[in-house]
Amino acid sequence: MAFSKFGLSRPLMDGIRAMGYVEPTPIQLRAIPLMLEGKDLIGSAQTGTGKTAAFALPILHRLDQPAGHARALILEPTRELAAQVETAFRDLARFATLDIAVLYGGVGYGKQLEQLKKGVDIIVATPGRLLDHIQRGTCKLDRIEFLVLDEADRMLDMGFLPDVRRIIERCPRNRQTSLFSATIPPEIETLVRWAMKTPETIEIGIRRSPAETVRHAVYPVSDQQKSDLLLALLEAVNYDSAIIFCRTKHRADRIANVLRRNNHAVAVLHSNRTQREREQALRGFRDGKFEALVATDIAARGLDIADVSHVINYDVPQHPEDYVHRIGRTGRAQATGDAFTLMVAEDGPHMDAIERFICRKIERLKLPNFNYTYTTLFDDSLEKRGVVAGRARGARIRGGYFYAPSKKRR
Ligand code: AMP
Repeated sequence: MAFSKFGLSRPLMDGIRAMGYVEPTPIQLRAIPLMLEGKDLIGSAQTGTGKTAAFALPILHRLDQPAGHARALILEPTRELAAQVETAFRDLARFATLDIAVLYGGVGYGKQLEQLKKGVDIIVATPGRLLDHIQRGTCKLDRIEFLVLDEADRMLDMGFLPDVRRIIERCPRNRQTSLFSATIPPEIETLVRWAMKTPETIEIGIRRSPAETVRHAVYPVSDQQKSDLLLALLEAVNYDSAIIFCRTKHRADRIANVLRRNNHAVAVLHSNRTQREREQALRGFRDGKFEALVATDIAARGLDIADVSHVINYDVPQHPEDYVHRIGRTGRAQATGDAFTLMVAEDGPHMDAIERFICRKIERLKLPNFNYTYTTLFDDSLEKRGVVAGRARGARIRGGYFYAPSKKRR
């Protein structure tokens, strides 16, 4: 089906064409008509499915002309996401005359105040900075007609739900509310009951499944060899662009240094970096100045970075849903990509939880020609084929893995 069936305004159709979208994605097919009808909507879909345009297009169509006051509010958990969603709105509305402002912390108030003073139709914001503006009396939500709670599960994880509630209380009751979340934990269900009117639910694919077009693999390795294996993997796959996820800011900096020493052009994204540094990192990565981006989960949540050829989990995600979110960086909107996870013995339970969560087993692989310091069992099938039975003397099994006595321990 073509976009023309939705009956969207001419400037929007021109915007869609300029973006190069040919057909609506599944979530757009289902969400756009419902939102155009004015229904409240819960979309459980990951990033990478085209969900931003799924809510942006009907809102832009229904706003139509500038009114000089805020009529649509989109809440995002992070500044990067807010900036990205604002860009998507601007891109789609490039032939329309609506005014859009993005409000997030970590930057001065000047430009935001200026925009608010002039009057904006659409506000894309993170909860903290928006509340600041409300408290200073520089932003009013009493004429909001469209409210979008994007990445609601991440707002919950980041402790933003009380702020989100405070913001919703400032919006008129008579509004259209949509909520997007990859998972719907009980706290979000409570929010839905409180904030929404008999919403329709759209679930795209199996709610928990990561992008179908991604090839997944787990590379078991010892902790001491992780960075060597990362370097060898990057070498072996001949990647175009890779995002490397790790657990902490400190680790992110350390991995980036290792990569730099080995002649990779690397940017780092974590919350200790200034807003300017984060923007530079993202811009450089998008423009191809950096071929690798090392990031922590929170910093990279939901970022729309096109054409990432590889996602590498340097650390196994602690929460299974983070695996799905991380993998969402590759295979976005019908593209393909590889997702590799480095796994140490202690990660066994987390990896099991991920596989249960996504309802599939991920292949264990061994990188050819890599000088492993121990032998690792890669999957149950090896165990079933009796590899364990024939193990070397002195070997032991820990966390489901088989370690041959290693000659070299670093
Ligand atoms: P999102 O899930 O909103 O983060 O979108 C992921 C990517 O898909 C973005 O780069 C969008 O520009 C792109 N996209 C959204 N809708 C379409 C479409 N109908 N056809 C092709 N690409 C799309």
